[in-house]
Amino acid sequence: MMRPDDSITVLQGVGPKKAEAYARLGVKTIKDLLMLMPRDHQDRRTAKKIRELVPGQTALVRGIVVKSNLAYIRSRRGQMMHVTISDDSDLMDIVFFNARFLKDKFPQGKEIYFYGRVGMNRGRLQLLHPEFSYGVQGLLPVYPLTAGIGQNEIRKNIKSAIACADQLEGCLPEDMVSENALPSLAEAIRLIHFPGEPEDITRAKERLIFEDLFVLQTGLLMMKITKNRGTKKTASHEEFISGLSYELTGAQKRAVSDIAADMASEEQMNRLLQGDVGSGKTIVAESAMFRAVRSGQQAAFMAPTDILAKQHFANLKKDLGRYGITVGCLSGSMKQSEKNEELERLRTGKTDVIVGTHALLQEGVEFSDLGLVVCDEQHRFGVSQRMTLNEKGESPDILIMTATPIPRTLAVILYGDMDVSVIDELPPGRKKIITKAVTEKKRDDVYRALEQVVENGGQAYVVCPLIEDSDAVEARSAEGVYEELSKKFPHLTVRLLHGEMKKEEKDEVMASFSEGRTDILVSTVVIEVGIDVPNASVMIIENCERFGLAQMHQLRGRVGRGSRQSYCMLVLGSKSDIAVERAKVMTESDDGFYIAERDLDLRGPGEVFGTRQHGLADSHITGLISHLDIMETVREKAVMILKKDPELDDPENLALREAVEALYGEDMTMNM
Ligand code: ADP
Ligand code: MG
Repeated sequence: MMRPDDSITVLQGVGPKKAEAYARLGVKTIKDLLMLMPRDHQDRRTAKKIRELVPGQTALVRGIVVKSNLAYIRSRRGQMMHVTISDDSDLMDIVFFNARFLKDKFPQGKEIYFYGRVGMNRGRLQLLHPEFSYGVQGLLPVYPLTAGIGQNEIRKNIKSAIACADQLEGCLPEDMVSENALPSLAEAIRLIHFPGEPEDITRAKERLIFEDLFVLQTGLLMMKITKNRGTKKTASHEEFISGLSYELTGAQKRAVSDIAADMASEEQMNRLLQGDVGSGKTIVAESAMFRAVRSGQQAAFMAPTDILAKQHFANLKKDLGRYGITVGCLSGSMKQSEKNEELERLRTGKTDVIVGTHALLQEGVEFSDLGLVVCDEQHRFGVSQRMTLNEKGESPDILIMTATPIPRTLAVILYGDMDVSVIDELPPGRKKIITKAVTEKKRDDVYRALEQVVENGGQAYVVCPLIEDSDAVEARSAEGVYEELSKKFPHLTVRLLHGEMKKEEKDEVMASFSEGRTDILVSTVVIEVGIDVPNASVMIIENCERFGLAQMHQLRGRVGRGSRQSYCMLVLGSKSDIAVERAKVMTESDDGFYIAERDLDLRGPGEVFGTRQHGLADSHITGLISHLDIMETVREKAVMILKKDPELDDPENLALREAVEALYGEDMTMNM
């Protein structure tokens, strides 16, 4: 007998080639196949009258074959099957090319169902290459496809595997199933693949969503509950805060005290610090590092790129250095001998705070006593990364900072395992950035404005979607724009920055811009996160239709950091509805949360949050957002279960534990 864990190759007609194609859909076993969710269902229950058909619509037609004829066509070097059918309303043509294999399929007088897109040919309605069957088909599931595997094949394979559904065990507790009148998992799987009526699909989905959310929440809660013991860091950060030249905002103060409380406790801190661009997260992190060092431990600060690491290094050295704290840096562009010296200082505890990229997590980087890790511009920190860290110190506290505003609805789902502090207030005195969207025609105006700002001592970013010109993509490239601007403004210093340049070159360009020696920086999105050059007051985004809302918001956040009035100019290369709509959102709002919500509306959550990396299917997340009430229900249940059985060791919870491990991986990594 077939078992759910069997490879799909046990199915007839599924050999190694097909298995490879299935693997691309994430299907390896019979169970995976049964859990492959249709992305849609086609309603093939009722046929339309031929007379009522409209060209362009997709429809099911039932007709009796009046005549059929296989003809040789010279121009196409093949044979054409031409069938005329009739229902009691009208006649219609059905056409197939290269159709010798259909020779005997349409005998006169036979009733046949055709499904396809209605077209017109010489004034007559026709269906070209429709699907056909000899009986009515009901609600037909439509599966996601990949090269090498067809819709009908998947349907056929699922039909052969469906008997196995009874062996699949759901992990929802019985009382939850009965309280919510849900079908069993086996029943839900049968209904989703072979529904009789639309209500069946709804019922099936409800069970599957409950199932998904329950597993998701249980996993998140497990991560949250299983807190490691760390060390208490009880030194005060007051000296640092009172030494600042400005007053912290209320939101910053709250974040600082959240973090201080976490650090003073024995449990390992796992906190996300969320704050819009420019909200002042760095100083909050610095106060935490100060506390760690004053408590006798070391701190590590990880930046997403080398450029940012350098920038933070300079700031930290300035801000923490005056309290006698030693700040070091490890960078990819350093000489090996320099690196070795720094590694040695770190290992012996001479360096208190180390700045670098994620390379800090690598082997060979040893600490004397690591107490805190700050991770800048990161959404999430997988459990495997946390484990690596825990080995580098005694479960050091972890502070993750992100400027990606996550709509609250999603935050519950994505950060269920973390504590969250939000900085929802900008430092006082910031001038609003003036944002304008223009078309190509207004380019001269844009350049005039640019020149004026720069001549008054300001600096500008020009961001392009491409590095170099491309035949395949119609968009402006950083190299092209760089040449154009260099020619147009020979009296100004224009520099180019993109991801394919050598590290040293990038660093040099960036340094020249932050020190004010470069007027206009033409770049790709490498400057997206974190760069802080307060004197820069113009951001021009070329072909802004190629950037997502969240990304544009990030880019815009690079200006408006100093005392100058700042401008953001979006140059539209296309006037598609969505491009215009996005530009409009940008000109109307500077609220990162609002923009993120709109981004979600316009693009769908999968794209926004890169759910591929997240390990959750797009459809799942979409489902999640519209089912927050279910989320509450399952969360309560999950809390109850974990209270009794925190590690899910109880045999009764075996299925749940397996499902959690399947979703998060055995080490419970859930990376974004
Ligand atoms: P982000 O949250 O984007 O990382 P930063 O930490 O880079 O923001 O802060 C942006 C700028 O605001 C920095 O130049 C910083 O010195 C300044 N800043 C931060 N907090 C305050 C405050 N409370 N008052 C005035 N300026 C501040
Ligand atoms: Mg920052």
